[in-house]
Amino acid sequence: MKIHEYQAKDLFSSCGIPVKKYVLCYQADEAARAYDEITTECVVVKAQVLTGGRGKAGGVKLAKTKDEALHHAKNILSLTIKDFPVTKVMVSECVDIKSEYYVSFIIDRNSKAVVLMMSAEGGMEIEEVAAETPEKIHKFVIDPIIGLPDYLARKYAFVLFDNIAHVNQMVSILQKLYKLFIDTDASLAEINPLVVTGEEELVAVDAKMTFDDNALYRQPEVLSLFEPTEDEKIETYAKEKGFSFVHLDGEIGCMVNGAGLAMATMDMIKLYGGTPANFLDIGGSSNPNKVIDAMKLLLKDKKVKVVLINIFGGITRCDDVASGLLTAFQQLDTDIPVIVRLTGTNEKEGREMLKGTRFRVAETMGEATRMAVEASK
Ligand code: GDP
Ligand code: MN
Repeated sequence: MKIHEYQAKDLFSSCGIPVKKYVLCYQADEAARAYDEITTECVVVKAQVLTGGRGKAGGVKLAKTKDEALHHAKNILSLTIKDFPVTKVMVSECVDIKSEYYVSFIIDRNSKAVVLMMSAEGGMEIEEVAAETPEKIHKFVIDPIIGLPDYLARKYAFVLFDNIAHVNQMVSILQKLYKLFIDTDASLAEINPLVVTGEEELVAVDAKMTFDDNALYRQPEVLSLFEPTEDEKIETYAKEKGFSFVHLDGEIGCMVNGAGLAMATMDMIKLYGGTPANFLDIGGSSNPNKVIDAMKLLLKDKKVKVVLINIFGGITRCDDVASGLLTAFQQLDTDIPVIVRLTGTNEKEGREMLKGTRFRVAETMGEATRMAVEASK
């Protein structure tokens, strides 16, 4: 689970990691008012979206007057950064940057431990530094039993800084960030850039945190920060209904029983020149409620032009499935084409029941897929 910069900064400030004051704004005129509230002459207006690289995309701008703040906020609020529409901006005290550093704690699969990563090449995207000049990234594996006591934090702080005032501040930031990382079951806590200001102070100018989804059950405060994207809302609905569901980008909605068959269905759609809108395994049973829930799920996606239902009746009998489909669609208000392929126990009876109804019935998977692809064109 990801959170916004402003949320991560709230967590930082609650544990004493230095960040600048900010005001969160949903409208450009709020940003103008925020300019007055912040009181420093220079403010920075920053897009709040769940992705990095905002600076490069024009989502971070400095403003020296109220009008400038208004103007930048207006522009930034109209941006879409890497598919994320900007709906809010942070107006924050501007920092006079002398130098920029990179600091993060991350779960490292290779060392099966938390790793501290630091670099004097802050501000840039760390992936670029890693690709071009990997020697400029310092990595330290944290022993979970020892953690980050003073002597280690000091040793690591000296890797980036030689000025003792900076080192002392860095020790405190490292220890607090590590504690926050552990306490919140984070998988990433990143400051990029951590800056030294003109007043020789270390300040987190950016803040990024990601959390382990499997630990959210014991992190109610973290979970309360969850802001699902449209896709995540749909995936949450699917999870509640007990489906395995993955949203894709195509036009043919798929409803299949069994994960293997669902994969094969997607492959076949591609083979015949169509595009699957999703992976959906509805599991066994012919319960009409399940079909209703699954159809509602598929119809949430406005790109879906046709639905392909591909059922293998093993323990579930095809005539039961057919009667389930008929019951379900009595309660659904949609005229989208629905192609059904039933095979397995009592398949003839099942197909017979669907003939002359709203369903288009196919016998083989190839036939069903061809019909679906045609209907989607
Ligand atoms: P990102 O591009 O999404 O990682 O957003 P950041 O918060 O890291 O901002 C991008 C860049 O904008 C930083 O690396 C800084 O160089 C610059 N920046 C951000 N805030 C300030 C600020 O308060 N003062 C100055 N001078 N530059 C800033
Ligand atoms: Mn950044």
